[in-house]
Amino acid sequence: MTTQRGPAPAPTQKPQRLVVGIDLGTTNSLAAVRAGKQARVLRDAQGEPLIPSVVCFHPDGRTIVGREAKALRLSFPDRTVFSVKRLVGRAASECGAEARVLPYRVVAGERDLPRVQVGDRQFTPEAISALVLQQVKATAESALGQPVEQAVVTVPAWFDDAQRQATKDAAALAGLDCLRILNEPTAAALAYGIDGNKDGTVLVYDLGGGTFDVSILRIEDGVFRVLSTAGDTHLGGDDFDALLAERILAALPRTAAVPAADPYVLQAVRAAAEGLKIRLSSETSAELELDLGAAGTAKLRIARSEFEATIAPLVQRTLDCVQRALKDANVRIDQLDEVVLVGGSTRVPLVRARLAAFTGKQPHTEVDPDLAVALGASIQADVLAGNDRSLLLLDVIPLSLGIETLGGAVQKLILRNSTIPTHRTEEFSTGVDDQTAVDLAIHQGERELARDCRLLGRFKLRGIPPMPAGLPRIAVTFLVDADGVLRVTAREQRTGVEAGIQVVPSYGLSRDEVKRMMLESIEHAQQDYLAREAIDVRNKAEAMVRGTQKALQLAELPPDQTYAVHKALAALRKLLAAGAGAASLKAGCDDLTRVTATIADDVIGAAVAKALREEQQR
Ligand code: AMP
Repeated sequence: MTTQRGPAPAPTQKPQRLVVGIDLGTTNSLAAVRAGKQARVLRDAQGEPLIPSVVCFHPDGRTIVGREAKALRLSFPDRTVFSVKRLVGRAASECGAEARVLPYRVVAGERDLPRVQVGDRQFTPEAISALVLQQVKATAESALGQPVEQAVVTVPAWFDDAQRQATKDAAALAGLDCLRILNEPTAAALAYGIDGNKDGTVLVYDLGGGTFDVSILRIEDGVFRVLSTAGDTHLGGDDFDALLAERILAALPRTAAVPAADPYVLQAVRAAAEGLKIRLSSETSAELELDLGAAGTAKLRIARSEFEATIAPLVQRTLDCVQRALKDANVRIDQLDEVVLVGGSTRVPLVRARLAAFTGKQPHTEVDPDLAVALGASIQADVLAGNDRSLLLLDVIPLSLGIETLGGAVQKLILRNSTIPTHRTEEFSTGVDDQTAVDLAIHQGERELARDCRLLGRFKLRGIPPMPAGLPRIAVTFLVDADGVLRVTAREQRTGVEAGIQVVPSYGLSRDEVKRMMLESIEHAQQDYLAREAIDVRNKAEAMVRGTQKALQLAELPPDQTYAVHKALAALRKLLAAGAGAASLKAGCDDLTRVTATIADDVIGAAVAKALREEQQR
């Protein structure tokens, strides 16, 4: 995700359009809105901003979402769905490890898509996310006292395009028009006031309940780029709780009548452990007396230093990820300008201290780490609503886009890393006389030949009136809108006939695929260059042959010159027919150029040059 500053701020218009920012989290979700320059989270009737991302399909037929659903997890473990973000946009076969640790059933549906099975009903992960989003929408609507129809929804920076698209689908199912999918670290940086005004490198450290993500962002000329991400999808505050829970269980009398594995006992112990942990964030020691009925009473006093020693290996694991992210981004620690904290677990003093020591930078803590992502999303939402013109938030295209030209080469119209929205028009022509239709194949990738790129779609432009090759002027326009959707149109300029196609270049393309395609282009650069050169030389030779033949029909030449041109022409045709290599074809073209260039009055030369110019635009 990228951000770019636009021109001078325009006066704010009233009434303002309403677009909310939504943090759709693995554990909790929430919405925020920005009015004027002030971003604020939207709270429910009890004043709570966080909505647990939990859906319970109660046996009595009710669908319950949020806090109440979370409270029902123990009563209906196989009917209460949580952490569905771990399944969204993925194949069922990829979710195996995740699904095994979830108490509800995940099965493979058609096309290997995961389905959550509750009783005899099946739900897609998007449908479950949609229920959470509906609750967020309803909460936002009551807080604002007006309908909410448009939103910016955040996703982890490492989400691939299928996961992003699935998140958009979930928003649509919830009745929300998702104007933009925003990377969580970019949102967090925006919340901390890092708005692209100043160039720099930012580390976003996000430690939540169950997941850890670190991202390195580069801000350059107002553009935000995610340089690298690392993390652990099973590391967070819940692991701190689990370690404290062990301490509590160990403090239970051995004579306890109820086994400690009882889910209700475990739940109570976990809740007490979390409470202890939270107190230890502000106190240097905490005491607990937990009455577990038949299981006995656990009495415990724990110092912060003891807790810190217990969790230190887990904190170290997060720093190992930070190290990896820096390495992948090719950024040295001393090149970091800002360190930003996100996620409830960054309130743990040891986490802050270790990160500060590791990076040599005091992390930003002025924004509530639970709310930062939603607040940042609301800033982006406000920009998209058109209420703040001082900031223009843009994405970049991960891979170049182009069309296949004569001989199987790809002419790139939009280059990789271009900020979107963007557009470009180029003129092409026909390769054969009286051609009434052209095939346009749209490709994505960095390689020179179409066969090495990814075919995104094809369409045909028909209805071109019969004309000599090279005469039709076909303007091909690539337009990528703010959502990354590509529209390609082709228009024959003389007649106005037009055709087009719309594709989502990023759909189904994973992060790894983008990386692989990039690496391949570097690896094959030399070979691609030669192959491309061979095609270009061949196209040029064919165009010269056609152009010279046409010119010979038009011009009246002295016999000796006619002979020389015919001879060079025949030689070049022979080379073409024999499939000669680039060097021989180049030499053949040079010979033909030499004889046509010396002809009196340059009759042929001018005609050939004109024909060539037209041909080369193809
Ligand atoms: P998130 O997933 O970002 O909502 O973060 C939730 C995690 O943050 C849970 O593990 C919470 O126990 C933890 N958390 C929230 N507040 C605190 C606090 N004051 N100190 C330590 N951990 C906290």
